[in-house]
Amino acid sequence: MKALVKTKKGIGHIEIRDVPEPQPGPGQVKIKVAACGVCGTDIHVRHDTFPYWPPVILGHELAGTVVARGPDCRYFDEGDRVVAEPHTQACGHCHLCRTGNIQICPEKRSPGWGIDGAMTEYICYPERLLHRIPDTMSWDQAVMVEPTANAVGDLLERTGVVAGDFVVIQGPGPIGLLAAMAARAAGAREVVIIGTPGDVPLRLAKARELGFTQLIDIGCTDPIQAVLELTGGIGADIVVECSGAPKAIPISVDLVRKMGKICVVGLTGGQNVELNWDKLLFKVVTVGFHLSTAYTYWDRTIHLIASGLIPAEKLITHRAGLDDWEQVFDDIENLKALKAVLIP
Ligand SMILES: [Zn+2]
Ligand SMILES: [Zn+2]
Repeated sequence: MKALVKTKKGIGHIEIRDVPEPQPGPGQVKIKVAACGVCGTDIHVRHDTFPYWPPVILGHELAGTVVARGPDCRYFDEGDRVVAEPHTQACGHCHLCRTGNIQICPEKRSPGWGIDGAMTEYICYPERLLHRIPDTMSWDQAVMVEPTANAVGDLLERTGVVAGDFVVIQGPGPIGLLAAMAARAAGAREVVIIGTPGDVPLRLAKARELGFTQLIDIGCTDPIQAVLELTGGIGADIVVECSGAPKAIPISVDLVRKMGKICVVGLTGGQNVELNWDKLLFKVVTVGFHLSTAYTYWDRTIHLIASGLIPAEKLITHRAGLDDWEQVFDDIENLKALKAVLIP
């Protein structure tokens, strides 16, 4: 079968290869991949800035149909349409696994970098990591479940956005826009989205298309002044930091109100950030850091997307076959694509 493979360590080294079709082991089902989203992780593996074990098939944001069952499968049947949590090879024994936090087990090796991923025709997967999706859900919607589950879990389950909150999103990439939609679904009274001049043509334009009206381009508007004006001088209840930009992160402290919350989602890529510690303390801010997805985020997210409360599929700007991967990856890097999906 055809697969998109990172062949060895270094920058680049990605090619289409013909690889053997996998067969399901005990507790695994074989899934025919309907679509696989391209994530920032895949781009990082391309540029050698994320850990990976080559040769490895890329892609972890998969949706597909179960076509075969390995020995000892009990929960899924042929024909089931599924999405998959990427927490493969979590050990099951460490204190994180045993307290229900398999997503941050140090042994975890996800598809797409740790083990073979889904940018191919078939993948074999432990059935304990699968979630069934409704018949009414499109593949476009299904493939958005994994990235959306991050935003839903971080904002709704961990930060606790409630109806009436004033929410500011820094960084309008796919996760930032999903966070904006999650906040709106939770009943936020206003969602302000802050971006750079480079975000204006595609990302902020998409935000407008999604119905968000308070969009700030830091090239022409001072975001702190704007948010203070919109909140009568109080500041935002919740600031969601999705930019990962060391210059932008400290602004969160000025945007948030006293006793407010900062929800940290974006990675800086290893850079240090200078923060006014005392200002955080005097504002009595709660800062929460977030990574990956827990079990409970997934079913909630499936319902939110299927019901239309979070129209995550509207972020998809590119659909392409595996052979066109290079153009798609380039377009993401050059901010010409927002969310891209490969269809094997
Ligand atoms: Zn992802
Ligand atoms: Zn573990």
